[in-house]
Amino acid sequence: MEVKTIVGLEIHVQLATKTKMFCSCRLGFNDPPNSNVCPVCLGLPGSLPVMNKTAYEYSVRAALALNCQIARFTKWDRKSYYYPDLPKNYQISQYDLPMSHDGYIEIPLEDGTTKKIRILRAHLEEDAGKNLHEGQAHSQVDLNRAGTPLLEIVTQPDLDTPEQCKTLAVELQKLVQFLGVSAADMQKGHMRFEPNINLHITDDDGREYRTPICEIKNLNSFRALERSVAYEQWRQLNEWKKDHSFTIEKAGKQNRGWNDQRNETVFQREKEEAHDYRYFPEPDLVPVKIDDAWLDSIRSTLGELPQAMKARFMQQYQLNDYDAGVLTGDRHTAAFFDQAVQAGAPSKRVANLVTQLGLKIANEQNCPVTQLGITSAQLAQLANLIEDGTINASAAATIFETMRTDHSDPKTIAEKLNLIQQSDTSALETLVDEVIAANPQAVTDAASDGKKSKKARGFLLGQIMQKTKGQANPKIAGDLLDKKLKN
Ligand SMILES: [Zn+2]
Repeated sequence: MEVKTIVGLEIHVQLATKTKMFCSCRLGFNDPPNSNVCPVCLGLPGSLPVMNKTAYEYSVRAALALNCQIARFTKWDRKSYYYPDLPKNYQISQYDLPMSHDGYIEIPLEDGTTKKIRILRAHLEEDAGKNLHEGQAHSQVDLNRAGTPLLEIVTQPDLDTPEQCKTLAVELQKLVQFLGVSAADMQKGHMRFEPNINLHITDDDGREYRTPICEIKNLNSFRALERSVAYEQWRQLNEWKKDHSFTIEKAGKQNRGWNDQRNETVFQREKEEAHDYRYFPEPDLVPVKIDDAWLDSIRSTLGELPQAMKARFMQQYQLNDYDAGVLTGDRHTAAFFDQAVQAGAPSKRVANLVTQLGLKIANEQNCPVTQLGITSAQLAQLANLIEDGTINASAAATIFETMRTDHSDPKTIAEKLNLIQQSDTSALETLVDEVIAANPQAVTDAASDGKKSKKARGFLLGQIMQKTKGQANPKIAGDLLDKKLKN
């Protein structure tokens, strides 16, 4: 028996515009319920929608980065259904003429290779509001979210493991964040996933069975995505094993929900077909026509994309996979690092400063690393001071922090704070002699073999460092000590 898992993914990405898709209401988070609403997003009779051009531009940016074809002519459609969080009783979406189609994204696999996942289409639509069911005998409706611009990305069924689904989601998050088209904050529900899963089973007689395509609705974490797909793999195979009648021909398609506590999917309803939604062209909005000049202007601002940049950092700057991944996590950090290296600093030192100090402070301050008040030129100088032994790593941390408010060059700061390492051999030599004279037992131990010797040497070096208040260059002091001990 052979079992193949087939998964296609639908991903909703909330765009980072200031206002909603078809009205000028603010897009906020945690604002008082129903405070960001107007006649348009409340669906009041007589109100007319107006398209948000920035939302369209963001969608085009993302679609271009996903290697999609951009439609020169698109229109809007009404997707009709009834639900309390949808006051108009229809959602404005794009049905037969999406704004983009036929692209791909490459995802890294565990064996170090990459896999191309085809994108069927990416289109724009508006979000619905939210029904709140907590803590009351009745439900409440908050329409702040109604009309939020969403980019829906639909992949071809090219994914075949839960891990690949998660990897695709993570790569997509990185991409939209890098492009600046979405904050893609999972906690705020900016990304939602809906995998469509079924199995192709070939039994021992060579007969092929296809299990029903099950769509898991509204997953809002990478973990839920991965685990729900793994659960469906197991469940569908078990269902089929009973009597081989759990097939797409006999059981149709299903919508299922994910119960995170019980770690299982639950049946919701038979999957609706497109005709159930009574799609028809939105009469209140004009179609969108794009000219080549506008498209070219967006394309010209795309720049180097994160995957290409990561590969370049690894090749050109000899960074490891992890460092290169962290540094290309956002556009600003990548540029900050890149400029410092291009100013003539050693890449590994700069990478360490950015990942171990810069991003840590930026995280605490909740701001991008480029807003810490430190320039890439200062960063380069600081890296060079460590490289040539002028300062040590702990001094670098102090100087880094000081540079946020003191904009003199790092060497001046090091001098001011008395952080220059003592590398003057003759001055150190006197100190080494003093330490040797004062610790005859340690000197004897250092001359012995094994563990004892190592410990004694460490002790003597510690004494030297203490005498210089930690400012001796440990490499030079150590070399001097070894030379003296041998004599
Ligand atoms: Zn509104």
